[in-house]
Amino acid sequence: MKAVTFQGVGDVKVEDVADPSIVDPTDVVVRITTSAVCGSDLHQYHGRGGGLVERGAVMGHEFMGIVEELGSAVKAVRAGDRVVVPFSISCGGCEWCRRRLPTQCTTTGRAVFGGRFGKVFPGGQAERIRVPFADYLCERVPPTMTDDDALFLGDILSTAYCCAENGGIRPGDVVAVFGAGPVGLLAMQSAQLFGPARVFAVDRVDYRLALAAELGAEPVNVDTSDPAEQLRALTDGRGPDVVLECVGHETPFTQAIQAVRAGGAVSSVGVYVETTMGFPAREAFFKDLSLKMGICNARNYITPLLPLVERKKLQPARIITHTMPLKDTPHGYAIFDRKEDRAYSVAGASFGYATLWTALATFPLMAAVQLTCARIGLVTGRGLVGCVRRHYPRSFLYVACLLLLVANVFNIAADLAGMADVVTMLTGLPAMVFVPVVGAAIVAMTIWASYATVVAYLKWLTVVLFAYIVAGFLAKPDWGAALRETIVPQISLDREFVATLVGILGTTISPYLFFWQASLEVEEERARGRGSIAARRGATPDELRDARLDVTTGMLLSNAVMYFIMLTTASTLHRAGQRQIESSRQAAEALRPLAGDAAYLLFALGIIGTGLLAIPVLAGSASYAIAELFGWRAGLDFKLRQARRFYAVLAAAVAAGMALDALGINAIRLLFLAAVLNGVMAPPLLVLVMLVANNRAIMGPRVNGPWLNVLGWLTTAMMTAAVAVLVATSLGG
Ligand SMILES: [Zn+2]
Ligand SMILES: [Zn+2]
Repeated sequence: MKAVTFQGVGDVKVEDVADPSIVDPTDVVVRITTSAVCGSDLHQYHGRGGGLVERGAVMGHEFMGIVEELGSAVKAVRAGDRVVVPFSISCGGCEWCRRRLPTQCTTTGRAVFGGRFGKVFPGGQAERIRVPFADYLCERVPPTMTDDDALFLGDILSTAYCCAENGGIRPGDVVAVFGAGPVGLLAMQSAQLFGPARVFAVDRVDYRLALAAELGAEPVNVDTSDPAEQLRALTDGRGPDVVLECVGHETPFTQAIQAVRAGGAVSSVGVYVETTMGFPAREAFFKDLSLKMGICNARNYITPLLPLVERKKLQPARIITHTMPLKDTPHGYAIFDRKEDRAYSVAGASFGYATLWTALATFPLMAAVQLTCARIGLVTGRGLVGCVRRHYPRSFLYVACLLLLVANVFNIAADLAGMADVVTMLTGLPAMVFVPVVGAAIVAMTIWASYATVVAYLKWLTVVLFAYIVAGFLAKPDWGAALRETIVPQISLDREFVATLVGILGTTISPYLFFWQASLEVEEERARGRGSIAARRGATPDELRDARLDVTTGMLLSNAVMYFIMLTTASTLHRAGQRQIESSRQAAEALRPLAGDAAYLLFALGIIGTGLLAIPVLAGSASYAIAELFGWRAGLDFKLRQARRFYAVLAAAVAAGMALDALGINAIRLLFLAAVLNGVMAPPLLVLVMLVANNRAIMGPRVNGPWLNVLGWLTTAMMTAAVAVLVATSLGG
């Protein structure tokens, strides 16, 4: 497996290490889904505060994941449980553990995952980890909670809460928190739970103070003047009732004692690098203050804090700034160490390739649905709407066509904006010029070019999509891991993962493609001279075979493209879909330093090609559907004057997309809305497609065979389930 290992002071690297296995009967092996780089990892990274870990030791003590293997004596934990584990390793049975001081455990010698005290246990910045004393250490995480929310329970959230609790904050107190790093920010959140009147954040870094202010704290910059003086000035000369010290150095510790009011409390959780240090003894004595310090017994806090996180009373995920695949962790250490880019905490997720299997799994589903639509068009000589209109209630069709039109307009707007964005990036041509020119060109082409020309244009454009495949190779993926994730599906109940999965299903199995496919077959027949419905009715075995070949190769290519886009982004960028990567342009830009100029250009080319391909199809499918709904003449081979209304809808759809762009509406928002509309529409539409395909009155002897039915209904069921899950999670969240 891959793991982050210590190579010497200031040097960590990702390398292959032996997979963990069960050693003692109380062990489990956990497959890690997310782990973090903690501030104290940086001490280890710099070799500060005591001896070094051995070269090659696996780093990390803040992680969570899914239990995969069980020792024979494990009772409370089951395989498949999603668990979070405290940073310190303790037996749960020795005198110290029974005194609720598990960090003092004598059985393990006060060991820490990936640490240098007591017995040595490999750390959690890896794909897998052995967790000893599993019944005592593992805490099950409910499926409604994301990794980002649960992860910090194992260390910094518990530490921060412990610090606030040790301060003995009472309602109405004034609290000052020294240090606005990850622990300090979480200490501010925790302090708020005790009902203070005011919370001050003391730090010297502006962006940290800004985030502290977002969390409701009043910023105090130590570089302006003596922080104790500032705090007194801000509190009518008395000083804060409670000071939480979250740095772990002599200076802030001294300042904390100087700042606190007489009879107040100082609570300190910073990990001290110094062995001994100066202490303002006289001031502390005459102030009658209370002092509490020490390492947090995180195991004691995980269980009670979990429901507070679940109810959003504590929001640890708010401090996350960087998420990256495991292989980029050394870069994460460097960012965190330099405290650049608003780095508070770096979570390294090891599921970059975890969605690759969907490209393979959706292929038969997608192909079956598209083939069913193609057969409907081929056999009946009509488009999807034309068919349904004659045999099923029309009211549904009015709603479906309206939703389709709106969703497609949103999609067109997003595609135009995405292409324009990339063109601006490459050439500097402003979107105000690009969008109208390209939009008008596409409309003109569909109106004045014949069906055969349009199809040839679309076929040639698909060649451009191979750019994505080449970019995928240039991104130098870890092929072993990628292939494993392609063949073995990974499903996690993590909300983010489910949403990504639903998104993938929604974009591959998309309603406009159903309409397009059926109408395409009608056009094909018309191009062969079959002008009337009667002439088009029925299909020869040869025609059906050709359609099958066409559809499967088309779907194979589109799924391959989807696969390589995921592979490229997973191999290079932060986990795809993360908050940092919001547009395709950002993806292309972020690719450049990681995979080189060629990959960047190819990816950009792919984005433009996809847009040029999608826009005529989006506009065309909407106008086919609407024309058939009202019984208008529809087809790309007709002259403008022969099918005015068909072309009018097509042009209007593109124009509306351009207008949305001109209004400056956010493309991501539009794509999201389009996905919601498609999601609402897809399940009932799929049911209708399947009913039509099995209706002998419509299809005659060419009703669906068993394979198409199994796959088609399976797709319908999966889409319905996916939409239900999405609705449930968005309501629940
Ligand atoms: Zn830590
Ligand atoms: Zn113990």
